[in-house]
Amino acid sequence: MTRFIFITGGVVSSLGKGLASAALGALLQARGFTVRLRKLDPYLNVDPGTMSPYQHGEVYVTDDGAETDLDLGHYERFTGVASRRSDNVTTGRIYSDVIAKERRGDYLGATIQVIPHVTDAIKDYVLSDIATEDFVLCEIGGTVGDIESLPFLEAIRQLGNELGRERAIYLHLTLVPFISTSGELKTKPTQHSVKELLSVGIQPDVLLCRADRPIPESERRKIALFCNVRPDAVIPALDVDTIYRVPLSYHEGGVDDQVCRYFGLETPSPELSGWSGIVERATKPEGEVTIAVIGKYTNLMDAYKSLAEALAHGGIANSVRVNLQWIESEIFEREDAVDQLDGINGILVPGGFGVRGAEGKVSAAGFARARRVPFFGICFGMQMAIIEVARNLAGIKGAGSTELGPAPEPVIGLMTEWTRGNVVERRFEGGELGGTMRLGAYECNLSANSRVRQIYGEDRIFERHRHRYEVNSAYEEALAKAGMIFSGKSPDGKLPEIMEIPEHPWFIGVQFHPELKSKPFEPHPLFTSFVRAAIDQSRLV
Ligand code: GLN
Repeated sequence: MTRFIFITGGVVSSLGKGLASAALGALLQARGFTVRLRKLDPYLNVDPGTMSPYQHGEVYVTDDGAETDLDLGHYERFTGVASRRSDNVTTGRIYSDVIAKERRGDYLGATIQVIPHVTDAIKDYVLSDIATEDFVLCEIGGTVGDIESLPFLEAIRQLGNELGRERAIYLHLTLVPFISTSGELKTKPTQHSVKELLSVGIQPDVLLCRADRPIPESERRKIALFCNVRPDAVIPALDVDTIYRVPLSYHEGGVDDQVCRYFGLETPSPELSGWSGIVERATKPEGEVTIAVIGKYTNLMDAYKSLAEALAHGGIANSVRVNLQWIESEIFEREDAVDQLDGINGILVPGGFGVRGAEGKVSAAGFARARRVPFFGICFGMQMAIIEVARNLAGIKGAGSTELGPAPEPVIGLMTEWTRGNVVERRFEGGELGGTMRLGAYECNLSANSRVRQIYGEDRIFERHRHRYEVNSAYEEALAKAGMIFSGKSPDGKLPEIMEIPEHPWFIGVQFHPELKSKPFEPHPLFTSFVRAAIDQSRLV
């Protein structure tokens, strides 16, 4: 029997509802249950694929090629359960499905309304594509009280009735702020937030209260009384030093106990030594390295969430702290900017889109190559590194990417056709922006004797893609003569997926996004190896 945990948030946004959901998922797993995590996003975009990472943070891509909310990245990192397309739905997707049905005449002449048609579509989504999971954790995006979230709240209210209390629990995340002038933690915002939830018919069963300091027993009792919740179901969720401590700290607060108790499930205490080990290595490093990340959205960390996590995992694997220096790529378009890279142990150029700052990324790759600093290029980062080698080592002066304007030598260009398994997939120049990229997991074969073959320890890998442009294999020979090889290719051999410079201490570029699959308990081999190379480099200086 699958049980549902509905997670809402109140008072303010950015309380870490995604992390809270992920951590609870991990705790239930540690008690021996199987879990699946889902996110219902109230915004009107059909998916986050067309949203600027500047506004909304990174677009997380699943194996099955869905462009989803970055919270799904937290879910995967904490539980190891690969997310699927069915794990993230938005108001835009729900409405477009409902309207498509209406146009087909599927509603047989009925007047289409938010209740029941939209709420039914939401409920179908929540209940779809579930196999034998013990728990489905369903996070509702946004904050209670937002106009957009009302149909979602109504849908989960109805589900609570239909499934029965023995299969549904409501967990609400709130904030208990400290007011410095009075020197007190305040419970009123939590009371108001619960009132708001009650006004749509939802009585929360567990309250997770974010606070920057311990919440005194008296305040917990007060919250319990005013919010009609048992005192031991008012759980403090205090700020912690590393996100990987969240499962441990929530367990101490008793959140998994409360959920199990609610459902009458008797299980032994969870096995959390794996999480303590990760926290131990993350908080007590034996050394440190500094990696420069040369990107475009460097003032919004969420735009590179998975990347920052994957680098941290590489650090955990090597017992070092990885300091990240986020550098705006445009500054490398000035001659004197390379000084910024003094004292750096590795350079990473992540994924990106568009012309702004692109030449700066080309220069940063050139610096790493010439100075023999470990270099990791991801997607756009790899494409820019190939342009650099083409221009400066292979003598292809006009080398460029057609994404950035007319390129006399299109080393990177738009591929209009490729194969996935036995299926031919196509895209068109000037087509729609949403959903026209090569998305999701693709197989890649690694060449014998290459560095990546050694790093992965296998010759067939599956990694996730999100891009329109591809490396033009017509330049393979010229680049190989200049010292750059394509050490990973699509199974039909047509698409170069990985490049490396064998003669350099560590210079690897990949067309896919390895950061999406890295986990604290299973750091991605490329990040582990890159951080190792940065440690070696730090010993040289
Ligand atoms: N803009 C490039 C492309 O579409 C790279 C995309 C990316 O880095 N994810 O191919």
